[in-house]
Amino acid sequence: MRNQSVCVGTETTELPSGVYQLKLPFPKNPMGAGSSLGYVLAYLVEIEGGFALIDTGWNDKVTLDSLVKQLGDLGIGFTDIRYVLVTHHHLDHLGLAGEIRKRSGGKLAMHSLELPGTIKDFYTSLSVAPSDWFSDWLWRQGMGEADLKALPSAQSGMDKFLPPTPVDIVINGSETFRDGLADLEAVWTPGHSPGHVCIYDWKRKILFAGDHVLPRITPHIALQPHVGGNPLGDYIDSLTKMEKMDVCLVLPAHEQAFTDLSGRIAELLEHHHVRLNEVISTLESGHKLAYEVCADVTWGSGAWAKISPWDRQMSLFETLAHLEHLQSQGKVESFEEKGRTYYRLK
Ligand SMILES: [Zn+2]
Ligand SMILES: [Zn+2]
Repeated sequence: MRNQSVCVGTETTELPSGVYQLKLPFPKNPMGAGSSLGYVLAYLVEIEGGFALIDTGWNDKVTLDSLVKQLGDLGIGFTDIRYVLVTHHHLDHLGLAGEIRKRSGGKLAMHSLELPGTIKDFYTSLSVAPSDWFSDWLWRQGMGEADLKALPSAQSGMDKFLPPTPVDIVINGSETFRDGLADLEAVWTPGHSPGHVCIYDWKRKILFAGDHVLPRITPHIALQPHVGGNPLGDYIDSLTKMEKMDVCLVLPAHEQAFTDLSGRIAELLEHHHVRLNEVISTLESGHKLAYEVCADVTWGSGAWAKISPWDRQMSLFETLAHLEHLQSQGKVESFEEKGRTYYRLK
């Protein structure tokens, strides 16, 4: 199954020459203490006439100061950055893109499904009216009043971390870049977000994986009101397509570098397979709200009763993604009752 013959005997997580890792801190993370992701790993890749920067970090002075210092230590100036490639719109990846674009004059590239104009509307609407439409949506999935009340303070003000910025190169699918970026390809990997891309350095056989494949954490696959579709189905397809990629080194945006891409993909596919079966089991006793399904499945963060409201919300998004995928497979169906959405086995 694996196609990594080119790497045999040379598997190492050391960065090859011309590739640099930047460890960008995640200060005042509004996701709170529940987040285990203390920093974002951005990467500089040497290209013709300068560097491409992959991901940018949180929009905060502490992160920017750290970026300035790390660039200085490497002897690289902002104006050496010719391209800024953002894997997806999440605030820890896109946050500083506008500032870096301004300072460097580099071209910003993102997938069309991640463009700030579209995505910012979601964060703005959360900030303006966190207790209205979004709470209604959560309530329909079964979230109770106490958990709903605990949420708005954690969510308001998210938009300030995502200032609008023009995008110079719009990626529309898996495609090879041109000009100075000719050694890099964008690999469209929807799932974690609709327009997530990994960046593949086909000469060095390196995959810059963003949040698509992480070595230990299972990437968050969420069905949210502004995303829709079948994100888990997309994710499983994206992982499956990647199993045979010729990759010697994976450089993710969190945790650490690793070499066994196909092995990690197999683990992630198995995780979702087990979770899908678990969700089916919880519905064997009768129809349930998505939030009730959440309470019945096992979570790595511990017993449901002890999970924070924020993490419960994240769990709800993930459970909805599993329920939606089961619906698309014809195994589960939903129905409305008294304004709420229930799920049952078909
Ligand atoms: Zn992300
Ligand atoms: Zn991330």
